[in-house]
Amino acid sequence: MFRRIKKSVKSRARFGRLATPHGALATPFFMPVATRGSLKSLDAQGTRDARTEIVLSNTYHLLNRPGYALLEKCGGLHAFMGWNGPILTDSGGYQVFSLARHRKIAASSVSFKDPQTGKTVILTPYNVLKMQRAIGSDIMMVLDVCPPYPSEKEVIQEAIRTTTAWAKSSIMAYRKLGLYRRKERPLLFAITQGGVYDDLRAQHAQTLAKMPFDGYAIGGLAVGEPREKMYHILTNVVQLLPEDKPRYLMGVGKPQDIMRAVQEGVDMFDCVIPTREARHGRIYVFRKRERITATSAEWYETYAIRHARHQKRLVPIDPTCGCFTCGTTTIAYMHHLFRVHDPLAERLATIHNIYFYNELMRLIRRAIRTNDL
Ligand SMILES: [Zn+2]
Repeated sequence: MFRRIKKSVKSRARFGRLATPHGALATPFFMPVATRGSLKSLDAQGTRDARTEIVLSNTYHLLNRPGYALLEKCGGLHAFMGWNGPILTDSGGYQVFSLARHRKIAASSVSFKDPQTGKTVILTPYNVLKMQRAIGSDIMMVLDVCPPYPSEKEVIQEAIRTTTAWAKSSIMAYRKLGLYRRKERPLLFAITQGGVYDDLRAQHAQTLAKMPFDGYAIGGLAVGEPREKMYHILTNVVQLLPEDKPRYLMGVGKPQDIMRAVQEGVDMFDCVIPTREARHGRIYVFRKRERITATSAEWYETYAIRHARHQKRLVPIDPTCGCFTCGTTTIAYMHHLFRVHDPLAERLATIHNIYFYNELMRLIRRAIRTNDL
């Protein structure tokens, strides 16, 4: 399902192709986040106008609302949100460990009180995959334990033990749910943990690499540790993951961080930055499109469109950008929409920012093919 087409001679960066039931993707690629089944403020047309290749949605939030029964009844999230491209769904593990205070981890499940509804929820490797089957996910993530930073070594060790046991249960659950038998089966990804401990990271990556997963995520990074620590871990972990499987760095999304991770051999990214910042009126623009590099951030800039200096600028955000927003509006108009709190402002800014990220990934893929990255 994953094919490496070209490896850069300059770095460990790879250009490839990943096939999913809803179409093939050129790698490396970026996934904007549709937590509850929408890229906030965008309908399906807007999602396509942003040249979105794949969206990430959240199993746990969709399990809460609209719920399993409705998603299954309507034939999954693709039909529900009107999107026919690929969808990756996370397992809910991260939400459990970031949102819930009173969680109880047992050998085969995690139970906790939902902070919003107050209801007790039990997640198991089986039921999170069953939910992802109802969603119709193209890339499914296994349930994992994602400890916060900083955590004692013993805590991380315990998290690894549980995550490994759950990874094994997930493979069995995938079979039991009949997913292997499907002609175009969804992909199943494992999640490696290990905090900032080199030995634990290596141990967990090697253990999971022996199991028959379609891809491997690097979890538990970008959770507050220093950036250099993150890169150090990344360099060591990526080399231990199978060369012939896609690698996904979860939650990392600053443009220069994406570039650096690509150079380490990462193929997939997701982050809320382009959508969240768009809603706050922060716009991403290339300064030197031909000189993208991981060592500096000089080739792009961000600015607050609400600022008074943009009031009379009757030019597109970026005249060289191919997005719907830049093709039909001006900075002055965008500034005006944000100032009068028109919801159209968020929609147009979101389209542009996601397009910026997709353009960045296109430039990255091109640079790998020409050995410039
Ligand atoms: Zn644009």
